[in-house]
Amino acid sequence: MAKMNANFLNLKENYLFKEISKQVSAYTAAHPDNKIIKMGIGDVTLPLAPAVVEAMKKAAEEMGHKETFRGYEDSGQGYDFLREAIKGYYAKREVSLSNEEIFISDGAKSDSGNINDIFDESSIVLVTDPAYPVYVDSNTMGGKEIRYADSTPENNFSAMPPEYHADLIYLCSPNNPTGSVYTKEQLKEWVNYAKENDAIIIFDAAYEAFITDDSLPRSIFEIEGAKSCAIEICSLSKTAGFTGTRCGYTVVPEELTFTAPNGEKYGVRKIWARRQGSKFNGVSYPVQRAAEAVFSEEGIKQCREIIKYYLDNAAIMITTFEKLNISFTGGKNSPYIWFKCPNNTESWDFFHKLLNEAEIVGTPGSGFGKNGEGWFRMTAFGSRENTVEAMARLEKMLG
Ligand code: PLP
Repeated sequence: MAKMNANFLNLKENYLFKEISKQVSAYTAAHPDNKIIKMGIGDVTLPLAPAVVEAMKKAAEEMGHKETFRGYEDSGQGYDFLREAIKGYYAKREVSLSNEEIFISDGAKSDSGNINDIFDESSIVLVTDPAYPVYVDSNTMGGKEIRYADSTPENNFSAMPPEYHADLIYLCSPNNPTGSVYTKEQLKEWVNYAKENDAIIIFDAAYEAFITDDSLPRSIFEIEGAKSCAIEICSLSKTAGFTGTRCGYTVVPEELTFTAPNGEKYGVRKIWARRQGSKFNGVSYPVQRAAEAVFSEEGIKQCREIIKYYLDNAAIMITTFEKLNISFTGGKNSPYIWFKCPNNTESWDFFHKLLNEAEIVGTPGSGFGKNGEGWFRMTAFGSRENTVEAMARLEKMLG
């Protein structure tokens, strides 16, 4: 009889968003005429930028003609036109990459979930708590031991290196769910820790485009020495509204190495290319052309305007939280606001109160890890109108 991978038995029930959806459906059924404002799920609401749509249409047209039709892509890592564009994007921050170091993906979720394939099962994995759930779930599926570095109010929800050893480290900055952003000095400490431990950092930069403060790093490769100890995973989902279009990229530096059980050194880039070559057949041509347009002068300008719209929503939210004297992180350089549930309420109790009394849906912090208990996440990805209305409702509820 076929046997399942027993590691799947160690997964925690995917409870958070299922439970939220169940609660919201029940509330809607009981109050069908009321307007619920959703500020929980991290999906975007504004459409793709015009430059992106134009590029996608043009590419779709090319696919309809024999002379310009494209089938499988040769490199398996993405078209050069897109990798050149990404290279140029990094060069603006004085990070120099080669095309070979860039892998085009269908988004950051796949790569952040798949990357653990290439690491030994005995690897000790370090995840900051609270965290984006994919890191824990994928490493649990991979049978790896997971340890946690605490993100707490005391460290402003920016966990720093622990005393103990780890082989693989997942960092996310700007952070989902806490909205905290590592400074260059803090990332340097992580790079030093990785080097001392012969570890590799998986740096999730899915929200880098929300950083407006020039002193903050948008890529781990802005930190000296990071190329020998880090992989960066990025996404166009939030940078350019690609949640439904699907494109991202992963940067694996040529100089990054790891050791086989026999002690021999291997290039991580080569092994990741081998893994992708066997299990991934690339991203569609029209989507890669659309992604290329994100990095054009016009695309950058248009996407920045969209991000500004969300950051302006976040600023409106910040004003309300400050007025209500609620502790929070994020909202600046990030689309997430992470706040302490008023009156020491537990996360799920506050979820129910918010739904029943203000008809707002948010995300209970406890769903992202133990340090999230008593905290709550709201996103700035809604419309201006809904954000303003939600904040007025919150003030009324708590005022
Ligand atoms: N990484 C983080 C931290 C995220 O919050 C998300 C999406 O919410 C992703 C990765 C996944 O991004 P993508 O849509 O590119 O798969």
